[in-house]
Amino acid sequence: MPPEKLSWKHLYDEVVTSGLCTGCAGCVIACPHDVLGYDDLNGVYKPLQTEDFGGPGDCSHGDKSCTSCTRACPRFRAWEPEIDGFLFGRARQAEEVSGIYKDVVLARATDPVLHEVGQDGGLVSAILLYCLENDIIDAALVSYLEGDGSTWKAIPGVARNKEDIIASAGSRYTYSANTLAYTEAIESGAERIALVGMSCQSSIPPVMKQRKAGKVARRLALSIGLLCSKTFDDAIFEELFEAKYGLKRADMRKMNIKGVFQIWMHNGDYHEVPLKECHAWTREGCKLCPDFAAEHADISTGGIGAFNDWTLTIVRTEIGREIMAGLQDAGWIEVRPGDDDPGAIALMHKLAAKSRKRWPEFAVDAPRLLTT
Ligand SMILES: Cc1cc2nc3c(=O)[nH]c(=O)nc-3n(C[C@H](O)[C@H](O)[C@H](O)COP(=O)(O)OP(=O)(O)OC[C@H]3O[C@@H](n4cnc5c(N)ncnc54)[C@H](O)[C@@H]3O)c2cc1C
Ligand code: SF4
Ligand code: SF4
Repeated sequence: MPPEKLSWKHLYDEVVTSGLCTGCAGCVIACPHDVLGYDDLNGVYKPLQTEDFGGPGDCSHGDKSCTSCTRACPRFRAWEPEIDGFLFGRARQAEEVSGIYKDVVLARATDPVLHEVGQDGGLVSAILLYCLENDIIDAALVSYLEGDGSTWKAIPGVARNKEDIIASAGSRYTYSANTLAYTEAIESGAERIALVGMSCQSSIPPVMKQRKAGKVARRLALSIGLLCSKTFDDAIFEELFEAKYGLKRADMRKMNIKGVFQIWMHNGDYHEVPLKECHAWTREGCKLCPDFAAEHADISTGGIGAFNDWTLTIVRTEIGREIMAGLQDAGWIEVRPGDDDPGAIALMHKLAAKSRKRWPEFAVDAPRLLTT
């Protein structure tokens, strides 16, 4: 960070109100004075200043010396090369559209329950359980469904054991700022925490570490990323799925995106909704996001490719490699080479390039699709 004191007013002008803010909530959990709240009503998903001081872009602590929120934001100024330098010792090359990585493999959990409840291969669930049982982490920040699941509202929560992991497995396609479960995790004594999150969220742990954001940064021990081109506004359930197709959210059992929006109902019916019909409900915070491949996670995971019940797995860091090796040695996962499905890797690069084209002209160059 430059010597200039960069605080909430800079973040508010340059990220929160410029369109760059993804609503990841990194700034909210980094705020040492608890003056940042989070608005997740009516599709907003943005941080907000809650103290009785000045206007929405002011902060009394920022006016003095506090810089924590700008240190935690994975969209503030030169975030991409800063994090690349921290994690990999260099900035990505133009051709590395999916970010820098060590290995690409296909993986799936050998535990039949984790495999069954997982969205793809259940790899994320297996990683979390392995890390909890082997004293690598104390807790994980994940996403649950509210109540009995019938509203399909995705909410952040903490996973501490196998039961929690099973309850939180699978994908919801509305936004869940899992970061916000941090407070609950530390209140229960967790010191080593894994963050599972969309691409935008998975850059939070390393940006905090690189910019020395204090003990929150030290506690975020592992970043598991989910490949992501967008999330949808909650209104899509009523305004599209129910209004046009008569599909009520309470009757839905599972959903996935594989070229189309796939919906399985409790009564056994299966429906497909063309993705182009869904675009109008793209969440505001995703519209300028350039990161499809969760480029700063320790391990990034996705479901594209020819093999439905395997997780496409991009291992980026040394800790990511150690964990994958540990899982494999212990027989917790099956792994096959990424080369078994070259189409999946090609599609990842294609979708990553597409997302980078969204990065706006007014922002710094680095995350943009660069020509070689
Ligand atoms: C909104 C969204 C969009 C995605 N888009 C793509 C895509 O375009 N292409 C692609 O290849 N893969 C995409 N994925 C990733 C894919 O759906 C799987 O999450 C990934 O392959 C891991 O599968 P798994 O079986 O190993 O994970 P699981 O073992 O099922 O674990 C999934 C983890 O994700 C968490 N989670 C679920 N929903 C959310 C949410 N909304 N926000 C934050 N955390 C959540 C769960 O709590 C759980 O910890 C997307 C995921 C989500 C949530
Ligand atoms: S992108 Fe995340 S950290 Fe940055 S301002 Fe938005 S919510 Fe805060
Ligand atoms: S597209 Fe995905 S990674 Fe990007 S802001 Fe939206 S949820 Fe976050």
